[in-house]
Formats: sequence, structure tokens, C-alpha cells
Amino acid sequence: MKTILIGGRWIDAVDGRGIDIVDPCSGAVFTEISRGGAADVDLAVRAARAALDGEWGRMSATERGRILQRLAGLILDNREELARIEARDTGKPMSAARADANAVARYFEFYGAAADKVHGETIPYLDGYNVSVVRVPLGVTAHIIPWNYPAQMMGRTLAPALAMGNAAVVKPSEDACQSAIRLAELAMEAGLPPGALNLVTGYGVEAGAALTAHPGINFATFTGSPEVGVQVQRATAENHVRCALELGGKSPQIVFDDADIERAVPIIVKAIVQNAGQTCSAGSRLLVQRGIYDRFVGRAAEAFAAVRVGTPESDLDCGPIISERQYQRIRACIDEAVASGVPVIAQGALAPELPAGGWFIAPVLMGPVPRDHRLARREVFGPVLSVMPFTDEDDAVELANATDYGLVAGVWTENGSRQMRVSQRMLSGQVFINCYGAGGGVELPFGGVKHSGHGREKGMIALEEMSTIKTIVQHYR
Ligand code: NAD
Repeated sequence: MKTILIGGRWIDAVDGRGIDIVDPCSGAVFTEISRGGAADVDLAVRAARAALDGEWGRMSATERGRILQRLAGLILDNREELARIEARDTGKPMSAARADANAVARYFEFYGAAADKVHGETIPYLDGYNVSVVRVPLGVTAHIIPWNYPAQMMGRTLAPALAMGNAAVVKPSEDACQSAIRLAELAMEAGLPPGALNLVTGYGVEAGAALTAHPGINFATFTGSPEVGVQVQRATAENHVRCALELGGKSPQIVFDDADIERAVPIIVKAIVQNAGQTCSAGSRLLVQRGIYDRFVGRAAEAFAAVRVGTPESDLDCGPIISERQYQRIRACIDEAVASGVPVIAQGALAPELPAGGWFIAPVLMGPVPRDHRLARREVFGPVLSVMPFTDEDDAVELANATDYGLVAGVWTENGSRQMRVSQRMLSGQVFINCYGAGGGVELPFGGVKHSGHGREKGMIALEEMSTIKTIVQHYR
């Protein structure tokens, strides 16, 4: 074990307990992690505070940036190993895991290079006064990481936090944390001083809850379910600590009559099949204008029927569901929809000779889904695409916005004015026009509205999220 990193040392949980880690392709235990709890979290927060008071707190922004860029290099040097670790832990195809490793490197490269380019400002004030506004770190930042893209999500919040000089405590998901452990090792190798990054493995209700409620943290970032998001917000509020929440979505793909069908179909299918639908920004609702409904859905059905699910090594379109619990949730959503009369339009297939005991689900295209059906509004977090027809632009906008979520929207039309009109009316944090996801985009600010959460990640704005400003007023005569 020894999967807890505190003050630069790898240790077991204070009480010595562990958690069995299971391969989603077979359900078999393949390793064990330390089961950190409140006592371990307390040590981690203290170590982070000590780092801020020590070498890390005094380090120049340039030097911090160099360390992060060294880490990016080490991630690329170890890309194949990281990809193997991630694929084993999550079951995702090897090529997807390699892409994830590249994306993590990109986070540290981008924010490492940006570390010394965040400047303050001066304010003209009364005669004899000099006013400067400087940007300062928040202090100890808490990072609760989900299991769907474990390495990427760690990079997404950790890189800007460290770039701004915070000291971090990371709580990766108990369902997939092997890549987080390896990344933390590489961060030490890159020269990150002890305590600047601490990692506590364990259950969400134990280590996660203790971390977000700890009075020693100054900020918390959480990606996961809306229910736990509420708990995180409550816990941090008790200590007047700000939090950023990324809570998923029910993102629409809006396809108008004039859309380029051949271009749209593969991108739309990939946006729900990728990672077996376990993606916060998955395009899980397909809204199609009536004029091309039959033609478009027919093409989407062909593409869906060609989807194949398999193990990481077989490197097909997607892998298994992360855990038995998530598998049962998704199955229940599909079974309930079928029982209530929603037709299955098309379904992918499982590769032959999959290991027994794995949690594989064939991606499914369903519809037309009634607008008030659970499947039209609730996030499944699995490979299920709900199809719904719409009549005109107003109807499309109303339907697209008719969920509690607001993370991403896709708009497919060749009409430039309509592209802009519809984009403006989308209640979402991102809108993609005639594309979707667009390569991950470390540079592109990301985050939700409504129940999808608040706070922004990625892009330069993440550096503002991970810092605050201090106004210094100097009277010089
Ligand atoms: P979850 O929200 O329970 O877990 C996410 C992370 O939060 C994990 O690290 C977990 O250990 C931690 N956590 C759990 N309880 C906590 C608490 N009380 N305090 C602090 N941290 C806590 O997610 P889940 O149960 O694994 O998955 C359930 C649903 O969450 C999914 O079906 C999906 O809808 C959603 N989800 C969304 C994302 C996303 O990218 N937005 C990622 C994972 C899960």
C-alpha cells in the first residue's frame, strides 16, 4: 500500500486500513490502496500549510513554472506507462488512455508556462499614494477528483493551483486512483518541494468529507455528482471557504435541417460513446429538426450499430463501466426507459470473448423520448443517447434548455446567423458550433451554469479561480 503522500513521504493510513481495488473488465481485485480518513487528511493539510510557510511559499513564479514544465516532460516520457495504469484502473481503451496522458502533460505545460505571466495592476489614487493590486495564492487547496478521467482531472485543477503557488491536498476517487499516485510520484521527481502536493487515498464519505470540512483549507474544487456537490458546498460554507463545482450535464446536440449530416454523425456518436458515456460533457441528448429527423436518425443508427465495446487492449470504441454500482444505475435507467415504452433505435455490440465478471454495456440510441421523461432530463452517465424531434429554432432552444443542467451544447447548422442566435440563447458554459469537444482544449474556459455547477476551469481564468487579489496602499509623504 503506502498510497498516501504527506510532506513528501509515502505512508499508510494512520489506522493501517486499506481498500481493495477492482478491475472493471473482470471484477477481480488487482491491488489495494490506503484507506485515509480524518487523521490522515489533518496531517496532509498541516503539511500543505508548512510548505506554504517554507521553501514552496518563497519560490519564485518562474521556478514554480519550471517545475511544472519538468513534470509535463516526465509525463510525456512515461506516457505509455501512465496510459497502461489508467486503462487498467478504468477499463478505457489504450488509445483513449494515451490521449488522456497527453492531456495531463498539456495541463502542466500550459500552466507551467503561464505561472510567471499573471501580473497585478496599479491604481491611480490620491496624491501621494501608491496603490498596487497583487495576485496571491489562496493557500491550501483541496481537490476532490472523480474516476472517469482520473489523471486528466487531477491535471486540470492541480496545475493551475500549483502555478499560482497554492499547496494542494488531493483526494482521488476510490474507484480509480492509480494514475493520481503515479502522477504524484512524478511531481516529486520533477522537484516539487515536500508538502506542495499531498495525496490522501480513501473513500469520499471519509477522506473526502474530512478534507472539504477541514478548517485549514482555503478552497475546494470538486468534480462529481450534484448530490455530493451540495455536501461539498455545505461543508466548505461552514468555514467560509469558496468552492468550485463541476457536476456534469445533460448536454444537447441540436441538429437543424441544413446540417452537414456526414460531418455531424460520427462526432455526435463519439461524444456519447467515448469513455462509455461516463463524461461530464457527453452530448447525451440528440435534438433533431423534423425535416431531417428520419434521415439523420437513420444515419446515427447505422453508426451506433457499428460501435464495439471491449477491453483496453482490444482498443475498440469504449470499455466497461467503472464499477458494479454505476453499471446497475445505468442498466436501471435503460430498463426503466424500455419498460415505459421508449423504443431502442440501435445498439452497439460487445466484443466476443470478453472476460467474465466485467461491467460492459452496449451503447444504445433511444427515442423518440417524451420531453418529460426521466431520460430526457436526468444524467445517465452511461452510453445512452436520447433522441427528440423539434420543429423550429424557438422550439429547439426551449428543448435544449429544458433540463436542470447547463454544461455544454452542440449546434449543427450551416446558417451563420442561426449559429450565433442559438449560441447566445444556450444556458450553458460552452457552445460548440459544427464541432464538439474540440480536442479537449486546455486553453478553453470550462464550467457550468444551473445544476452543472459553478466556477471555471481551464484557460487563463483558472489561474484567477486559484488565486485572489490583495490591495496594497502606500502613502509616500
Ligand atoms: P461521487 O460524486 O460520489 O464521487 C466523486 C468524488 O467525490 C470521488 O472522489 C469521491 O470519493 C468523492 N466524494 C464522495 N462523497 C464525498 C463527500 N461526502 N465529500 C467529499 N467528497 C466525496 O460520484 P460517484 O458516486 O462515483 O458517481 C455518481 C454519479 O456522479 C455519476 O453517475 C455521475 O452522474 C456523477 N459523476 C460526475 C462526474 C463528472 O465528471 N461531472 C464524475 C464522476 C461522477
